Amino acid sequence: MKRVVTLYEQGDHSWRVVARDPMKAAYLIDTNEYVIESAGVAMITDPGGQEIFPAVFGSLSADFDSRKITSIFSSHQDPDVISSLALWLAFNPKLRCHASWLWSQFIPHFGGDGETILPLPDEGGPIQLGRITLQAVPAHYLHSSGNFHLYDPGARILFTGDVGAALLPASDPNLFVEDFDTHIRHAEGFHRRWMGSNEAKNDWCDRASRLEIDMLCPQHGALYRGQDVARFIEWFRSLKVGVTGKRR
Ligand code: FE
Repeated sequence: MKRVVTLYEQGDHSWRVVARDPMKAAYLIDTNEYVIESAGVAMITDPGGQEIFPAVFGSLSADFDSRKITSIFSSHQDPDVISSLALWLAFNPKLRCHASWLWSQFIPHFGGDGETILPLPDEGGPIQLGRITLQAVPAHYLHSSGNFHLYDPGARILFTGDVGAALLPASDPNLFVEDFDTHIRHAEGFHRRWMGSNEAKNDWCDRASRLEIDMLCPQHGALYRGQDVARFIEWFRSLKVGVTGKRR
């Protein structure tokens, strides 16, 4: 089972994380799923691969009515992000999936039909959820060529997909980054190799530093909060990405 933790709650507006799973098979990369709710309607970000669907759905549904989920936000097209799509659609065929227009004919290979994908234009834009308006924030080439993050200005939370991801040892149970310098060692190799464009990365750092962010929430590894958010953005700005590294 995965751990479900409420990250933010104000009236009928909330964020939950379905956090990485200590019981998960070692051959699968661990993931975080986020569930945003407003006025009884919910969205799940990067719901994960089909292999982990039972763990995600089961853990979440223990204390949450998953029928509230009417949409998915898919930061990009990878299998660990959205290959569970057909299983979510079996649960709710009316479910819609926000994703880059670039992937609108690719993601349906995981399931759905011509109605399922709501394509996001390159510049991103607002996404209504219940009473709140979320923002799809462009993060192209970080790492996918059509890639988005999701900002909630009310909760001051930015979901960042693979940006901020760290490949932590299974023995590290911390939900939040506790010691930035130690943590970031587990993120460095990943960012150098996976993030495809230094120019896109610097653009993203400018964009992110203009947002008010209390929590930066990646799809893999621990979450950044407080001072560690700005620390991460500055660390990322100074990192040279799009290189294969010394040992490869
Ligand atoms: Fe990916």
